Amino acid sequence: MSLHESQTGPGFRDGAGAPPQPAEAAVEVSGVDKVFQTRAGDVHALESVDLSVAAGEFVSLIGPSGCGKSTLMRLIADLDEPSVGSVTVFEKSAKQARLDQEYGIAFQSAGLLPWRTVSANVAVPLELHGVASAARSSRVAELLEMVGLADFADRYPDQLSGGMQQRVAIARALAEQPRLLLMDEPFGALDEMTREKMQTELVRISAETGAAVVFVTHSIPEAVFLSDRVVVMSPRPGRIREIVPMRLGADARRAARTEELREERAFFDMVTAVREALHGGSPVASGARGVETR
Ligand code: ADP
Ligand code: MG
Repeated sequence: MSLHESQTGPGFRDGAGAPPQPAEAAVEVSGVDKVFQTRAGDVHALESVDLSVAAGEFVSLIGPSGCGKSTLMRLIADLDEPSVGSVTVFEKSAKQARLDQEYGIAFQSAGLLPWRTVSANVAVPLELHGVASAARSSRVAELLEMVGLADFADRYPDQLSGGMQQRVAIARALAEQPRLLLMDEPFGALDEMTREKMQTELVRISAETGAAVVFVTHSIPEAVFLSDRVVVMSPRPGRIREIVPMRLGADARRAARTEELREERAFFDMVTAVREALHGGSPVASGARGVETR
């Protein structure tokens, strides 16, 4: 009973049986600068950023702390505005896309309401948008099934592990079938084993829903495992240094990515490619800081 079976398949927004539409941009960031005025002077958080994310594509942003990853996410989510340049989401202004609920958000803290059960937390966006009670219950059940929490519907957040709480947050972000998910270090607080499990789940979920994902991480293997492309950023000012397409062997489809991939040669090669891009295209300098390289 996956979402795949209960919806009309990947790209279900386009209608049953319709082939995926190529080339529509989920996100278009053009010529964006972001300057914060602070008492200590201007902080150039982003400079000359251009980025296009296709519908259904999984793109990770990686780079040292302070390189503007969260700022870029906030611009896409219309939580802040660019100083220069434009951001569109499905060819709408970021603001219109927010009003139309074109995307779901999951950030590092799961941000659940502690007094609500798991199912009541997932139902929040549906309630806010007036979805009728019966439809709400069936959608919540479907979402909990998808994130593997069907048996935990009546628990409260503090009865769940960190990984389970993040699953609830992901289910909530997916509640209204967004075509885009914005995730800022959603697994940052999880232990390594839970984190790898969550990555496998996210690969499956993103393939099932057909949603595009913009994903911020500090972890190179995480970015490689999840992404179609990895956007490598550098700080002061925050810029895109390089965009590395993930070439992961014969079957590069995201849906086909399983645990075994982590031990394959192509995976290590991509980890190396991203590391080198992070460190300026040269062999990784010893003592370089600010990035988890594991
Ligand atoms: P990252 O998420 O990559 O760690 P951020 O986007 O959070 O980086 O921050 C980029 C830069 O912008 C940092 O130097 C940060 O201190 C600065 N910054 C972010 N938000 C604000 C703000 N609201 N006011 C002032 N400076 C900010
Ligand atoms: Mg950040």
